[in-house]
Amino acid sequence: MRAAPRQLLSRFLPLYLCLSVFICGFSPGVYAQAKAPKQAAKKAPALERVDLLIAGGTVVTMDAGRRVLQDGAIAVRGDTIVAVGTRAELAARYAPARRINASGKLVLPGLINGHTHVPMTLLRGIADDLALQEWLEKYIFPAEARNVTEEFVTWGTRLAALEMIRGGTTTFADMYYFEDTVARETKAAGMRGVLGQSILDFPVPGFKTVPEGLAYAEKFLAHWKGDPLIHAAVAAHSIYTCSEGTLKQSAALARRYGAPILIHVAETKRELDESRAKHGASPVAYLEKIGVLGPDVLAAHCVWLSSADIAILAKYQVGCVHNPSSNMMLASGVAPIVEMRAGGVRVGLGTDGPAGSNNDLNMMEELDLAAKLQKISRMDPRALGAKEALEMATIEGARALHMESEIGSLEAGKKADLIVLRLDAPHAVPMYSVYSQIVYALKASDVETVVIGGRAVMENRRVLTLNEAEVIAKAREFGERVKRSLAAPPAK
Ligand SMILES: [Zn+2]
Repeated sequence: MRAAPRQLLSRFLPLYLCLSVFICGFSPGVYAQAKAPKQAAKKAPALERVDLLIAGGTVVTMDAGRRVLQDGAIAVRGDTIVAVGTRAELAARYAPARRINASGKLVLPGLINGHTHVPMTLLRGIADDLALQEWLEKYIFPAEARNVTEEFVTWGTRLAALEMIRGGTTTFADMYYFEDTVARETKAAGMRGVLGQSILDFPVPGFKTVPEGLAYAEKFLAHWKGDPLIHAAVAAHSIYTCSEGTLKQSAALARRYGAPILIHVAETKRELDESRAKHGASPVAYLEKIGVLGPDVLAAHCVWLSSADIAILAKYQVGCVHNPSSNMMLASGVAPIVEMRAGGVRVGLGTDGPAGSNNDLNMMEELDLAAKLQKISRMDPRALGAKEALEMATIEGARALHMESEIGSLEAGKKADLIVLRLDAPHAVPMYSVYSQIVYALKASDVETVVIGGRAVMENRRVLTLNEAEVIAKAREFGERVKRSLAAPPAK
């Protein structure tokens, strides 16, 4: 994704590399009146007003007790969940302005895609199955240098938002250029984002020098401070594209604003070998030594880790994001997810990509692959189970983003980010275990309704915040533009 001078290519590694609820009409008042009209008229408590009640179906809370409620319900006021319980309990307490009927369906916390580069949707599939250097040099760098503008980022983010909403993602963490534009479009789509303006040591779309990049990042942080949906962040790209000074300055800037720091860490064996040669330390130990690690860091990949690295990541409460599709597609390696979880590391799940290292933003697929990759690499089907995989895309993903007090589970006091999945497709029946069904059988296309911060952004598979036909037509148009740009002689 970088427009880097050719002489810096050798330092590169994979960079790019997810009605009406039949609340039965039974208000307690009505029920009581039938039995004892006079008494009930005096004593029945008034129903509390809420904005939205999602009721019926199986509610998979992912709360501390991992409660699964049959015939459950969730009451929402503003952007926040006010109660989770059974349909009968909540119908007796709340008078909703709106209802969503989830009978016969599953209700889950919205999925959290912990690592991606969303505008790259417009470069999806530009060139795959190549050696990394060839892929970067012949395709990605020229395509980015000639095409990545604010307009490109606008439409790429819209396309990504459409895809993510349709697949049940409600929050994502991103690293790209023109991140202020990504933020504007993310908010317009009604999504929640931890959005990192990328900083690298060489010219990239949007800035030519590190001071220029940091100045853009600072304006970006100031602009979005306090926004309920957008968490502006600084993304120091990696230890092999950022000098020690750049890494320290990026972290210091983020910390002045109380903002997250995003970075790729220990993605490939080459990154590990080069770090040892250059810094005499693993990538994790080096980042610890220079003061970058902390409970505000979100580290993508973390594939090549020693047990000492795992202990450091746990000690500093660094959030790590596992990207199984990307790690397989780029043959990066297999992250030690079982050891990381056992060692107390916060481990979320992401898609990476979507160009060259996935190529989509499908978190339902990542859930399935996360579990299966650990199983096959360890030759042990018990290595990582369906429930654990789902944790990584929900509550553990929230912990990785340091947002567990806000999102990741369906509980009173948290943001109302939730998805409703249908269970009537051939691959969805019968159902014995909710976790197995979600992780190994259900598809992104089963996501029917998506609510983010109390607002329905998709209902009955219709995205309400984006013009789908327009976005898809524009994506095709950009595809043609990119092809033409690659056929043209390089600009001087
Ligand atoms: Zn990445």
